[in-house]
Amino acid sequence: MTGESLALYVHWPFCVSKCPYCDFNSHVRATIDQEAWRDALLADLAHEARLLPGRTLISIFFGGGTPSLMDPATVEAVIDAAHRHWAADDKIEITLEANPNSVEAARFADLAAAGVNRVSLGLQSFDDRSLAFLGRAHSAREGFAALATAQKNFRRVSFDLIYALPGDDEDNWSMTLAQALSLGVDHLSLYQLTIEPGTRFASMVARHAFEPLDTDAAAALFELTDAMTSDAGMPAYEISNHARRGQESRHNLTYWRYGDYAGIGPGAHGRRLGGRTVRHKKPENFMSALSRNGHGIAEEAPLSAIEAADEALVMGLRLREGVDVHAIAERFGLPSIVDWDRVERLVGSGHMSRKGARIALTARGRLLLDHILGEIVAVEEPRALAVG
Ligand code: SF4
Repeated sequence: MTGESLALYVHWPFCVSKCPYCDFNSHVRATIDQEAWRDALLADLAHEARLLPGRTLISIFFGGGTPSLMDPATVEAVIDAAHRHWAADDKIEITLEANPNSVEAARFADLAAAGVNRVSLGLQSFDDRSLAFLGRAHSAREGFAALATAQKNFRRVSFDLIYALPGDDEDNWSMTLAQALSLGVDHLSLYQLTIEPGTRFASMVARHAFEPLDTDAAAALFELTDAMTSDAGMPAYEISNHARRGQESRHNLTYWRYGDYAGIGPGAHGRRLGGRTVRHKKPENFMSALSRNGHGIAEEAPLSAIEAADEALVMGLRLREGVDVHAIAERFGLPSIVDWDRVERLVGSGHMSRKGARIALTARGRLLLDHILGEIVAVEEPRALAVG
């Protein structure tokens, strides 16, 4: 590799319908002008490329929304342009998030030909009743068929499942997880259902339409997940992400290891040159900003050393490998970023581990990530950036 490494995130903001648990930047529109969106993404990309010359591109991630609804020619145009702007690493990882319905699966061969080499499938469940509860447009049968098509077309395939739904217990989740582990993928994203403010589920819970699973039961399922995936050789390398060695998402590792990434498309976050960028979220506002300014940026701000170090800690502690506290402090010119007495107490209580300056959360600690961060951060400042 030559220049400093860079990851590229591309946000496609459209979905066919809005899932009731979703707080992502996704929008439903009757028609989408693929050509106008291709030109917009290319212009937004060119803006980032002008600011980041000489980098080596290690990954591209098409997220959403539902990027499998993109015209494969649009995907190809973005990949080709990125290769013109930057030198690509030999092992460049190009991931696209896909919904597992037959229409989208039919595009997998074209997406592979466009340069996508990894797909992340939103299966979410193997059970039709759970899929209906989650408001998903596909059936379990369609999900399995899409997975088989994905495995035929892409070298690397991951899928997502959502667990800790109302009524889930160790018996049904262990059966689902055993099935997931038998399907021949090397990466799994396993998310607990959380009720996010502003979602349809949040209003349903407020009017007692259903009760979320209680936290003790959800914690038991998290521990079961940790044990079963570790036994199967796919341990968590991040709170919700599991992989065989070497099959971790390179793109997401850039976020968590606090590398630079350019983020283009509506609502995309980016981190580059010591600052953060946020694009306009609403597709129409993004498009107007783009024609006004030649880019879709809504906010751009430098990060103070304390903000950046705090973010690096927050991101890094999501990883099983944890963080080197001295390396972060040195990178941002700070004397110290954690309260070591509190770290030692959490090591004593089994929530953290420490090897020299490297600290990490144990499986027990990962359940309490937010609480632990509040305890150990040495200097409090508002967190400027959250990346999911
Ligand atoms: S498909 Fe994904 S992004 Fe779109 S509404 Fe559902 S959860 Fe949100």
